[in-house]
Amino acid sequence: MVPPTRDSDILILGAGGAGLFAALHAHKAAPQLSITVAVKGLLGKCGCTRMVQGGYNVALAKEDSVERHFMDTIEGGKWLPDQELAWQLVTLAVERIHELENELGCFFDRNPDGTVHQKAFAGQTFDRTVHKGDLTGIEIINRLAEQVWARRIQRLEEHRAVELIKTPAGDAIAGVLFIDMRTGDYLFVRARAVLLATGGGPTMYRYHTPSGDKTCDGLAMALRAGLALRDMEMVQFHPTGLLAGMHTRMTGTVLEEGLRGAGGHLLNGTRERFMPAYDAKAERATRDLVSRAMFTEMRKGNTTPHGGLYISMGHLGPARVRQEFKGMVERCADCGFDLAGGLVEVVPTAHYMMGGVEFGPDCTTALPGLFVAGEDAGGVHGANRLGGNGVANSTVFGAVAGDAMAAWVRSQGLRQPDSRAIDAAIARCERPLASARGDLEALRERLYDTMWERVGILRNASGLAQARTELDGLAAELERTGVGESTRAFNLSWHDWLNLQSLVAVSQAIAQAAAARQESRGAHYREDFPNTGALEASAYTSIRADGTVTMKPVAFTRVRPGQSLLKHAA
Ligand SMILES: Cc1cc2nc3c(=O)[nH]c(=O)nc-3n(C[C@H](O)[C@H](O)[C@H](O)COP(=O)(O)OP(=O)(O)OC[C@H]3O[C@@H](n4cnc5c(N)ncnc54)[C@H](O)[C@@H]3O)c2cc1C
Repeated sequence: MVPPTRDSDILILGAGGAGLFAALHAHKAAPQLSITVAVKGLLGKCGCTRMVQGGYNVALAKEDSVERHFMDTIEGGKWLPDQELAWQLVTLAVERIHELENELGCFFDRNPDGTVHQKAFAGQTFDRTVHKGDLTGIEIINRLAEQVWARRIQRLEEHRAVELIKTPAGDAIAGVLFIDMRTGDYLFVRARAVLLATGGGPTMYRYHTPSGDKTCDGLAMALRAGLALRDMEMVQFHPTGLLAGMHTRMTGTVLEEGLRGAGGHLLNGTRERFMPAYDAKAERATRDLVSRAMFTEMRKGNTTPHGGLYISMGHLGPARVRQEFKGMVERCADCGFDLAGGLVEVVPTAHYMMGGVEFGPDCTTALPGLFVAGEDAGGVHGANRLGGNGVANSTVFGAVAGDAMAAWVRSQGLRQPDSRAIDAAIARCERPLASARGDLEALRERLYDTMWERVGILRNASGLAQARTELDGLAAELERTGVGESTRAFNLSWHDWLNLQSLVAVSQAIAQAAAARQESRGAHYREDFPNTGALEASAYTSIRADGTVTMKPVAFTRVRPGQSLLKHAA
């Protein structure tokens, strides 16, 4: 059965920085093309680009350089990034920030002399983070959305992509199968080029920062389509997620890094400062080090009422804290905490996946016609992402993908889909509707436990082996669990089931990649292999749906470990 079908020259999945930039660039390159943006939520209101607080890394100042930004990215990524992708990131970020300001209408903060203000962000040798207060993402996504609305770009809102459909021969993508969440009906969109920009999102961890619409659907679809994912073991944790109990979605949301930067202290359950015992930089150490120290303290059991730790700012003077961190003070007050003068419960929180679909500098993938950009794409950041390189990544590669798709479709026609693949995808999605209602909440709790305890901040072989068994069990049990509701319109239990299916599949990939990397590097820490291997022999993990992991050598195309592109450091 082929469901109702519509055609589009270009189909974009996701409406974050990557998806919207792709739409605008494709439209600019070829205004006659039909372009459709399909999104699980509402355009302009969902995804993580909107949530960007800190800002956007770009080498603008004359004392800075793209070479310096590049070296920070490579060294921050512990020599695992693909160097051509990282080079694209730092060089094209300069073009994109000018486009954001001068063509799309973003207002970023400025210095008294009129130059763009750039602030310090951890892990960088230069203050290069462009921002709009601490609500940079709202400025970017609002302007992008307005520009998309103003053009002849089609929108499919509250449409969830459920399968990438290939041709019967499997040699190219033919289109994408959706569920219209408002009615529960299926829709197939044929397209000459498709962009995967659904934004990854490590929401399989008990504590996490990304928006709730992100459940790794794009990565799960890519695996099912036979594509390889790289660097999946690399999950970044932010040290200070708010911890206010599991009854509130505020738990897990970020309390910004500036609190530690300004001199905030982390305390254990008995209110003793513990970070100096772990690192000379104490609370100002990098995200991975602080998260590890916090997790170790929590494992000792000396925790706060909700099972975390405290951040304390009062010694800096409540008036100063209220003035410098107004938004954070208000956020904490909403949850009953006094950040300015008291203690706030915090916990490390899963923030970003460095891993994603293997892709080339022109955003192509191994499946002809399928492009990828943003957080769904792997290889730009290697073992760690610098704060501020996330939104740069999504806007830079979104624009590249838009240009590349506009060029690609010139020589491409629409392709016929494999109708058996559509049938199989519909059958997969229908299964939970046909089975008796089960306890999805209990399955989600088990997923949270497995990923947090065994595939999170501290990992070891036996924990990862146990996790893989547990995840296999969860996948099988989810298959037997139904949602038992006949109504299809806005059936959130049904979508919860589909979310869990994506999350379990991608969790399996994370656990398998983590087991394969027998060293510690960047965000990936193995208690049984605490050292980093030889940088010269750096290799990245590449995993497919059957669980096979291949270690592929990193090509040092621009600089080798021990060298630098900076003249004074050479
Ligand atoms: C709280 C927070 C603060 C951050 N702060 C910063 C910062 O200061 N600087 C920085 O550089 N980075 C920051 N990041 C990271 C940054 O937000 C992301 O790296 C980047 O915005 C991702 O862009 P994207 O376009 O790939 O995905 P997103 O912007 O997340 O968009 C993904 C889109 O895909 C849609 N989607 C998902 N699944 C489907 C589906 N099945 N079908 C259709 N559509 C789907 C979603 O609804 C959404 O529209 C932050 C992240 C968070 C969570």
